[in-house]
Amino acid sequence: MTGWLNKLNYMHKLTLSSMLSSLLAVLTVLTIVVVITFNAARNDLVENLQTTASLLGASANASISLKDPAYANNALNTLVNQNHVIEAKIFTPGNQAENESSVVASYKNDLLFNQSDISPQLKFNPAKQDPLISQNEILISEPVFNGNQVIASISILASLQPLYDRLKLIVLFSLLALAMATLISFVIWRSTQQTWARPFVKFSRAIQYVIQEKDYSKRIKVTTKDDLGEMISGFNTLMTQIQAAQLKLKNQQATLEYEVEARTEELTRANRKLISEVAERSKTEINLSKLSRAVAQAEESVIITDNEGKIEYVNPSFEKITGYKKSQAIGSNASLLRSDYHDDDFYNDLWDTLARGKVYKGVFINSRPDGNEYHFEQSITPMRNQHGMITHFVATGRDISERIQNEEALQFMAHHDALTSLPNRSLLSDRIERALARAKRERTEVAIMFIDLDGFKMANDMYGHEAGDVVLKSVASRLRSTIRSQDTVARLSGDEFAVMIEDLQNVSDAGIVARKILDSLALPHEHGNEEIFVTASIGISIFPGDGKNARVLLKHADQAMYQAKFKGKARYSFYSKKINANETQRMQKEQALIRAVKEKQFVLHYQPLMHTDQKSVHGVEALIRWQHPQEGIVMPDEFIPSLEDSEMINEVGAWVMEEACLQLAKWHQSGHDNLVMSINVSPRQFNDKNFLNYLINALQVSGIPHQTLEIEITERAFLALNNKTLRILQKISDLGVRLAVDDFGMGHSSLSYISKLPINTLKIDRSFIRDLAHSQENAKIVSALIGLGERLDISVTAEGVETVEQLMLLEDLKCTFAQGWLFSKAMSPGDFENWVPGSTTQRLSKLEMV
Ligand code: C2E
Ligand code: MG
Ligand code: MG
Repeated sequence: MTGWLNKLNYMHKLTLSSMLSSLLAVLTVLTIVVVITFNAARNDLVENLQTTASLLGASANASISLKDPAYANNALNTLVNQNHVIEAKIFTPGNQAENESSVVASYKNDLLFNQSDISPQLKFNPAKQDPLISQNEILISEPVFNGNQVIASISILASLQPLYDRLKLIVLFSLLALAMATLISFVIWRSTQQTWARPFVKFSRAIQYVIQEKDYSKRIKVTTKDDLGEMISGFNTLMTQIQAAQLKLKNQQATLEYEVEARTEELTRANRKLISEVAERSKTEINLSKLSRAVAQAEESVIITDNEGKIEYVNPSFEKITGYKKSQAIGSNASLLRSDYHDDDFYNDLWDTLARGKVYKGVFINSRPDGNEYHFEQSITPMRNQHGMITHFVATGRDISERIQNEEALQFMAHHDALTSLPNRSLLSDRIERALARAKRERTEVAIMFIDLDGFKMANDMYGHEAGDVVLKSVASRLRSTIRSQDTVARLSGDEFAVMIEDLQNVSDAGIVARKILDSLALPHEHGNEEIFVTASIGISIFPGDGKNARVLLKHADQAMYQAKFKGKARYSFYSKKINANETQRMQKEQALIRAVKEKQFVLHYQPLMHTDQKSVHGVEALIRWQHPQEGIVMPDEFIPSLEDSEMINEVGAWVMEEACLQLAKWHQSGHDNLVMSINVSPRQFNDKNFLNYLINALQVSGIPHQTLEIEITERAFLALNNKTLRILQKISDLGVRLAVDDFGMGHSSLSYISKLPINTLKIDRSFIRDLAHSQENAKIVSALIGLGERLDISVTAEGVETVEQLMLLEDLKCTFAQGWLFSKAMSPGDFENWVPGSTTQRLSKLEMV
């Protein structure tokens, strides 16, 4: 109901309410009128009936009193004019006790009579009764008096229909009046609404427009002076105020916007500044954090102290380096780290430098809590505040103990020999110079000894470098223990040592010391189960007589050492100025040879040994050559005697043995497995204690079958045969190594020893072969020697075969082997390998044909 009502516009609502209110008013009025009219009509009816009853009572009074019912009936029949009366009766009182009454007269309108609801109420009523009204009927009852006495009562029952008919009429009229009123009010409203409602509608639309368009310039013309007019006027004022407010607002907004913009710009600037500051700060923070991490993780120790040296900060490296815990260090004075190494001057200098605001750099020898000292390289920097006052010190440092140790080790290595830890040549020279300066002041003498080991190279080759090192160390320690502690032992190179004896009382004392040294070195040096023998040759020079400086004194001691070597080694020799030109030349040659031995400037060439009958290669003879750095190849005759004199022949001889055996092994491996090797051995070599060891070593390292090696000993050697030599020869033979007598027939020895010795080969000296073709005597000797060989089961080799003729004669004489330039001169190993293939039957056949 309210739904559609709300949808109505205000004007219609107004119309509806006006109309409804009008109708309600009219309806109320009409209802009141109807009710009043109905009541009046009913009262009229009651009054009329009561009057009628009274009148009828009066008229019937007599008849009643007379008890004449006819009259009474006639009276009642007058009611026929009143057509709404249904029934009328006059009652007289009956027996009261039995509640009886009696009808005197009655009237009945048959047209209206019906079974009435209240007709039973028609009875005698002694007093006046209020009308009894039912739906359709009304009953009145009036007493009939005779005097004051009630003689009867009259009751009239009438229909209400006429009353209702009248009411219907009234209602009809009322409705008509209502309709009329509605119509009239509608007409009036229609005519007035145009005038009264239009401004209101306009007003409403204007409000709608303002609301929708937000156009506050809208104004409505004021046409009435009533409330609406005031409202419209108020609206207009409101609009003006709104517009003013709007304008003000706009201005304020513009101002605000301007301010906001300015503020925003300011804020943006501030923000940018803030961002850059934040960035800067975060950069600074990052840098700070980096810095702090760098300091914390730095390998260097970092210490920050106040200006009095009280420690305020240490990094982890500090703990590691100094051994002090952070908790121990913080609050302590930096002097905590001190050792007793530095004196007060050192620290005074440090504080002076810092007090001047300078950076102090230095190496501190500090002490750890456990007492260990270490080298602490520190850089201490004063830190100033903004007023330039020194407030703190920052010390960065590192432990350079290892570096110092390394430097010391390097320093030591630079001046000492790594193997023996003896001073080297440069330190020795320094010490000699210092000793000479002292000796000069104190007018004392100084001896310089140059010591060279004899046969060391061989020992080294034979027993290996490890053994060589053992020997050198042993020599060093023996030298040290032989001399006084204030004297100096140095290792100059390989097997060269030097000793400086200071404060000599007597020159001969140097000889005594040298002898002691020789004796101590002559004892065997032990390496595993081996006993290694080396001797030494010592040259001595004396300051000031033999030189004024270290270089000259060493040089002269060196020369004296050579003299000792050439005198037969294992001895000492004082430097002597009386060396003449020849001796100088010889000495130079000897020195060159000694160097040749040391530097192994030798090679072996191989001369073929041929089967004379089969005309094939039987073996080779190893012949030594000196590859002189300046003079080229030097033949053995020129240097073997010198080697023999100086005993260097032992060392060289050992080398020849090993080299020749190794070469033979190579040839055996490359297919020439029948080749034999002859090597020459000097008689001096039998004096060498190590000779047999060298031989065994050569056989072992090469692995050749022992019988493929033949040792040639010149016939001269047999002159000096003694028991020792014989034993050695026997041992050689026992080893299975063959023995040959070289240059046989020169008459140096008797033939008798041949049968007593384990000889396998006789090599007939080439002087017999040379004239073989022309000298009958020689031919006889050669023939006899070949015969001797046959008898003693000794093979015979003819040396120096240069012609086919000689070869053929030897063949005729049944000489087993031949050697000579006819076949080939001695060749390098490579040349021999090239020569061998063409050396067979073919080559010899060719020679025979010549
Ligand atoms: P040797 O053991 O009698 O060696 C033979 C010498 O005769 C070699 O001289 C050889 O070149 C030479 N010869 C060979 N065939 C002929 C020929 O047909 N006519 C002539 N005129 N000479 C010929 P080389 O090489 O000068 O050796 C000389 C000596 O040096 C050797 O005589 C030997 O006693 C000695 N010798 C060579 N090598 C060594 C060695 O390693 N140790 C030792 N201790 N002595 C050696
Ligand atoms: Mg020979
Ligand atoms: Mg010979």
